Amino acid sequence: GATIGILGGGQLGRMLSVAASRLGFKTCVFEPGGDCPGSHVSNYHFKADYDDEDALRAFAKAVDVVTYEFENIPTSALDILETIRPIRPGREALRVSQDRMTEKDFLSGLGLATAPYAAVDTADDLTGAIGRIGTPAILKTRRFGYDGKGQARIMTPADAEQAIADMAGAPAILEGFVDFSHEVSVIAARGTDGAVACFDPGENVHREGILRTTTVPARLTAAQRTDAVLLAARILNALDYVGVMGVELFVTPGGLIVNEIAPRVHNSGHWTQNGCAVDQFEQHIRAVAGWPLGDGTRHSDVIMENLIGDDIDRVPQIAREPHAALHLYGKADCKPGRKMGHVNRVKPREA
Ligand code: ATP
Ligand code: MG
Ligand code: MG
Repeated sequence: GATIGILGGGQLGRMLSVAASRLGFKTCVFEPGGDCPGSHVSNYHFKADYDDEDALRAFAKAVDVVTYEFENIPTSALDILETIRPIRPGREALRVSQDRMTEKDFLSGLGLATAPYAAVDTADDLTGAIGRIGTPAILKTRRFGYDGKGQARIMTPADAEQAIADMAGAPAILEGFVDFSHEVSVIAARGTDGAVACFDPGENVHREGILRTTTVPARLTAAQRTDAVLLAARILNALDYVGVMGVELFVTPGGLIVNEIAPRVHNSGHWTQNGCAVDQFEQHIRAVAGWPLGDGTRHSDVIMENLIGDDIDRVPQIAREPHAALHLYGKADCKPGRKMGHVNRVKPREA
C-alpha cells in the first residue's frame, strides 16, 4: 500500500494520519519535536529538523506523496522534497499564503474583496499607511502569525508607535478594520481531476484571537452561501490546488470579505468529523492520494468547541453528555492558549 508523508506532527497531522490509516494508507510524519500528537498515530516518525537535508531526502523516499499540516515550511526544505516526490497542495499555494502581502495581492488580483491593506516596514510606512487606510486598523506580521499572535490593534494614530514596536522589526502589513457582523469559513477541497467540493460554511467565534467555536449551519442567506462557495472554488482553481483549504470570511452588509486562506485542513472544519460522511481529513487524504473526492454533505447540525488550556479539565463532564463527540490530541502538558482537543456537539438534521 501507499504511504502518505505528513510534514508536521501537531493535532492536524494526527487527524490526517488517522484518516489516512482508515483508508488503508501507511503514514509517515516529519516533525522535529519528539513526543508529538502526530507521531502517536503514525507508522513512522522522522524526528529531524527542516535543515537536515539527508533526513528530508530519506523521508521523501519513504513516502509516495508529501502533504503538510502547516504552511510555514521552509522553502529550502520544499526545494529538496519536490525533486523526489509530489508535494500536495503545491508550491504556489504555499508561496501565496506564507506572506500576508502576497496573499492579499493574490486575492485582490482575483477580484475578491479584502480589507484595505498596505505593507509596513518602518514607522514612516505606518504613518503613511494610517493616512491612507485610517483607523481603526490592525498591524500584523506578514509571516508566521497564527491564533492572533503578531498582531497589534491601532484604535487611533496615537497607538502607532506601540504597534510598530510590537512588530520587533519584522515586515508587517496594515489592514483596515472590517466592520463585520460575523465570521464564517468555507472548507473547500479540490481533487487531482479538478473537481471541487465545499463543506457547508461554518460560523466562527474567536476569543483572544483564538477560535472558540464553529457552528453549522452558519447564519447566511442562500445568496451569501452561494457567494462563499463560489469564491472559495475560484481560489482553488486559480492555484491549481489539490487538497483541502480553509477560507476565512467576514460577513458585512456590503458582501463577503476574504480575511485569509490556509492551504491545509483547518480548525474551523473539525465539525465535519461528526457532521458529514466524509470529513475534511479524509477529503484531504483522498485529494492528495489522487482519489475521487468524497461526499461532504452535512447530515447533522454541529457546534464545535475548542478545548483550550484548562478547558481540558471539563473532559469528565463532557464525556457524560449525550451527542457529544470528543477529540483529544494526547498532548502531555497543558498551557494557557494551547489547543488540547475539541468537542463536536451533534444534532441530527431534520429531514
Ligand atoms: P488563525 O489562527 O486563524 O490563522 P491569525 O493569527 O492568522 O489567525 P487572523 O485570522 O488574521 O489571524 O485574525 C484573527 C482574528 O482577528 C480574525 O478572525 C478576526 O476576528 C480578527 N481580525 C483580523 N483581521 C481583521 C480585520 N482586518 N478587521 C477586523 N477584524 C480582524
Ligand atoms: Mg492565519
Ligand atoms: Mg485566521
